[in-house]
Amino acid sequence: MASGYKAAAKRALVERPEVRSAVTKATLHFDGNRARAYGEIDAEAWRDWAAGVKRHLLGRLDRYLEEAEAGLRAHGAVVHWAENAADVQEILRALVADYGVSRVVKGKSMLSEEVEVNPLLESLGVEVFETDLGEYIIQLAGEPPSHIVGPAIHKGLEEIRALFHEKLGTPADAEPTELAAAARRVLRDAFLSAEMGISGANFVVAETGTVVLVENEGNIRLTTSAPRVHVALVGIEKLLPRFGDLEVFLQLLARAATGQKIGTFVSLINGPRREGEPDGPEHLHVIFVDNGRSSVLADDEMYEALSCIRCGACLNACPVYRQTGGHAYGQVYSGPIGVVLTPGLKDPGLAAELGYACSLCTACADVCPVRIPLPGQILAWRRRSVERGLVSGGEKLAFNGYAAMVTRPRFYRLGSKLLRLGKGLTGAPWLPVLGAWAAGHGPLEPSPKSFREIWEEELAGE
Ligand code: SF4
Repeated sequence: MASGYKAAAKRALVERPEVRSAVTKATLHFDGNRARAYGEIDAEAWRDWAAGVKRHLLGRLDRYLEEAEAGLRAHGAVVHWAENAADVQEILRALVADYGVSRVVKGKSMLSEEVEVNPLLESLGVEVFETDLGEYIIQLAGEPPSHIVGPAIHKGLEEIRALFHEKLGTPADAEPTELAAAARRVLRDAFLSAEMGISGANFVVAETGTVVLVENEGNIRLTTSAPRVHVALVGIEKLLPRFGDLEVFLQLLARAATGQKIGTFVSLINGPRREGEPDGPEHLHVIFVDNGRSSVLADDEMYEALSCIRCGACLNACPVYRQTGGHAYGQVYSGPIGVVLTPGLKDPGLAAELGYACSLCTACADVCPVRIPLPGQILAWRRRSVERGLVSGGEKLAFNGYAAMVTRPRFYRLGSKLLRLGKGLTGAPWLPVLGAWAAGHGPLEPSPKSFREIWEEELAGE
């Protein structure tokens, strides 16, 4: 399966320069906040600890899933297991029919994008409202999210103004507060009339059977408590072993994502409404979803990607993501974690292009709160693509030639002389690899003398 990344990235850069400036501005802002928030704690020690907890969890995931299931059932939740997207859709189809659902409100959930919940519900005639403001914006625009935490960061204010003007009738020059108020009016009505609320889960605590949700807008709390039925979609890797683990994970998530000490709203859900309680749903359904995670878990080089807590920090730090935003990747998960996770969850063939959406600067590894070895994993996908013959022959030839040259001093001297005699790297479009590389760079003039010549002259002059 080809990802189409190269062509989409080129289109984004050439045709939508406003996306690049919006994404760069937003990600630099997020990343700056993260750096400040990490500076307030002993971040290295916290990250080591969190990575250890996740490694421990992944080594015994089957046991913790059973424990979580027992805890959830004890609280009165109904637990479902879905091996793939089709299973999730079947479960949702049955729930919609059983509860007579015609309206659904949703909290932001990347997993719901992964298993295509909205198209399913719409095909059943159910009205779906995304209630996170960013998600609501892109739902109005008919687009998928472009960032794990900020789904609409690729859109500037002018674009959102025009969109709301067209869809909601707000003034063409409406202030951001007016735009938010217009969205709030629509969503309030949806919260009060929806029969079902669908959320993801940031964590599920195995020890206590607690579904944990973190947000800044209050929309998830309304989504999970106002409608009669709450359905939580949970990737099987989203567990934490102990309730006490939350103390660090809640802070690390918020610090890595937005630079906050903790999310504005943290909901700890222990089952549906109990007798005598004034609010909350009458029914809670938790759907544990595999959808390729088991095969990632079984992959010695990739399993740590399942530690991801979807903070988005690696996207914000990535110089490649910053240029195009998430849509160019053409997948639910973009940026460094998307490059690693997507081939594992969907199709290893996708790594042939996505694996090269990376400059190997390793900035992602420096910020990841759970220390996922993303650069090493991206390199491993590249290696696998080469082994499977998915990478172009020209590139292989060029790198073999380069390796032959730099490991033989005589060839190396000859090669650098030829480059100096020629027009330099940017004047070498006849080299397929360098030609593509040079197209995005300013002119690089070769030095008139080689390093060795300069060095020998220096030694002679001493
Ligand atoms: S890989 Fe790490 S930095 Fe990237 S989203 Fe996941 S937890 Fe955050």
